[in-house]
Amino acid sequence: MASGTLRLKSTTGRAERASVRDELQRANGLLERLLVVPRLTADDMCGDCDLPANWHGWSSRGYGALLGQGPCPAWPGWAERIRRAREMFLAATDRRVEAPPSPPKPEPLAVIPSGLSIDDMIAKLAAARAEHPNAVVRRGNRNRLELWPE
Ligand SMILES: [Zn+2]
Repeated sequence: MASGTLRLKSTTGRAERASVRDELQRANGLLERLLVVPRLTADDMCGDCDLPANWHGWSSRGYGALLGQGPCPAWPGWAERIRRAREMFLAATDRRVEAPPSPPKPEPLAVIPSGLSIDDMIAKLAAARAEHPNAVVRRGNRNRLELWPE
């Protein structure tokens, strides 16, 4: 028994079963298409690409397109269409590239608010000095004292 059939039997949800069933049907269809391909010789192959010559035609759809059936990639018109599609794809991906993140804004080592009593200010500065002995004190936003690295 194929693993897809086993997975289908072990799946319980209705939507999940439908999804597994579709996937199994697709895989079986692809397998059937591959199994009917006769043994190929060098004369059966396209001289310009690695596909059988009788797979080349003017359209591609369904399982055949998945296998590579359709126009030969070496045909000038089709090669031009592939080139244009590739450029469109690359242009679309370039637009989605986001700017690199800006470096993080530097933050002070410590901030001491203004409006404290002298004793509180001295205590906070002493605690900050104990933690960052080489820091430099600068006036910060809204008259706060900020400790920055040297
Ligand atoms: Zn070809």
